[in-house]
Amino acid sequence: MEGKKMCCTRCKGTHLSIIADGSDSTTGGSYLGRSNAFIASTNSRVRHSWICADCGNRFRMPDELLQEIKKNKTYTILSLVTIVLFSIIGVPLLFTEVAALSLLFLLPAAIALAFFFYYKSSATKAQTQYDEITANCWL
Ligand SMILES: [Zn+2]
Repeated sequence: MEGKKMCCTRCKGTHLSIIADGSDSTTGGSYLGRSNAFIASTNSRVRHSWICADCGNRFRMPDELLQEIKKNKTYTILSLVTIVLFSIIGVPLLFTEVAALSLLFLLPAAIALAFFFYYKSSATKAQTQYDEITANCWL
């Protein structure tokens, strides 16, 4: 990714600044300060976006989106493993004399299922954004 320049997804302008989401103050300089901003972004949970000085367009930083995709995919797999492990124990318990105990395993499995769908859709959403930005924009 090094050496590639960002441009605005809307107007293709290159007068971009980095802005921390949820604030109106820029935290970095032009795209030349990109690597510094990346280091800053990996050290905090704050999301950053590029903001275009020409048209005001704002879009997420691809580096952060990539991290988000990776993180969400990992959590998706972990959720799936949790569902399988708890179900392997919980489901057979349903057919024993201690069927009530299966709740101890099936409840976490159900919660993991909810997380599974949440992380899966988050990964897809971030991937869509990433694809849109990189298709329109990396010069
Ligand atoms: Zn623009």
